[in-house]
Amino acid sequence: MDSSTFRELHWLLDIIQSADIGIVVIDKDLKIEVFNRFMQVHSKIVAENIIGQNITEVFPHLNDEWFTRRVRSVFELGIPVYTTFQQRKSLFDFALRLPIHHANSEMYQNTTFVPLRSSTDVVEKLAIIIYDETAMAISQGKLEEAKDELLVLSRTDKLTGLNNRGYWEERLKEEFLRNSRSSETVSLVIFDIDHFKRINDTFGHTVGDDAIRFIAKALLEHAREVDVCGRYGGEEFTVILPNTNIQGAKVFCERFRELVAANVVHSGGHDISFTISLGICQLDQSIDSAHKWLINADAALYKAKEGGRNKTEAFVACAGSEV
Ligand code: GH3
Ligand code: MG
Ligand code: MG
Repeated sequence: MDSSTFRELHWLLDIIQSADIGIVVIDKDLKIEVFNRFMQVHSKIVAENIIGQNITEVFPHLNDEWFTRRVRSVFELGIPVYTTFQQRKSLFDFALRLPIHHANSEMYQNTTFVPLRSSTDVVEKLAIIIYDETAMAISQGKLEEAKDELLVLSRTDKLTGLNNRGYWEERLKEEFLRNSRSSETVSLVIFDIDHFKRINDTFGHTVGDDAIRFIAKALLEHAREVDVCGRYGGEEFTVILPNTNIQGAKVFCERFRELVAANVVHSGGHDISFTISLGICQLDQSIDSAHKWLINADAALYKAKEGGRNKTEAFVACAGSEV
């Protein structure tokens, strides 16, 4: 080797050592030939101690199908193979100390396996290049979290935290379609606070808001996990009750009606009590859309209002609405 080639090699080695990427070179027998500074710092392994050793002995987790297949294909086909952290979080488990708000984390890595050819064009060695993509992974994670939060917000009623009308209607349609395929028993309830205008007019809007919040909280406590509760409009609420027939829905409604009637809401220095009226419709073959299902339940609610309020009425298809 003449001195200029030697100098060139020296520069190359300097570059390999100081690059902010991991570089590992292995031969066909998987023996480690290069293990640069980045790799040493993060693995806490000194290069001299492992040069010449089989990489799967130094890193036993690499003794798997995933790694072996890639190495073989790079040697056999002579083309690079690229893997992102989304496909495999990392090739080497490197712990990282991140700024306080991220606590401790592990390095996310993109990895490239590059074939290294001899002067006779034979792939003799393979370079594994590791890129630290942790910052990218964290910002992607944050983006996903923000998207999830936005999705929840877009589905939630601000005042009560219940499903808002738009999202609840989507759920109603889903439930309707599911039922038309499986014919499970499912009931729909719509209810409305009686003489709510009076509460607003007598005590003010803020007290009215507290009454609405009270109903929402009580409803969530009263309903089962599977029931889908929504705020449909001002002081109108809707509930989908899966696996529930008219009788079951009546029990649900009557218990809830009595619970509301027996409660006093303390707000703005006032003690207010009020009642609700409820309409039920169990889904059956005669109902050909989610909209019709809701209209039927609303008709039953209207009947409860007409019948004097603080009541539950159920819709029966053949007879119109019925007690
Ligand atoms: P009914 O027994 O027939 O239901 O009588 P009602 O007075 O409750 O009649 P209605 O349902 O028409 O009145 C609803 C009122 O609710 C009208 C509206 O000003 C009020 N409202 C709607 N949204 C809100 C809200 O978010 N907060 C408050 N405080 N009031 C609301
Ligand atoms: Mg009302
Ligand atoms: Mg109303």
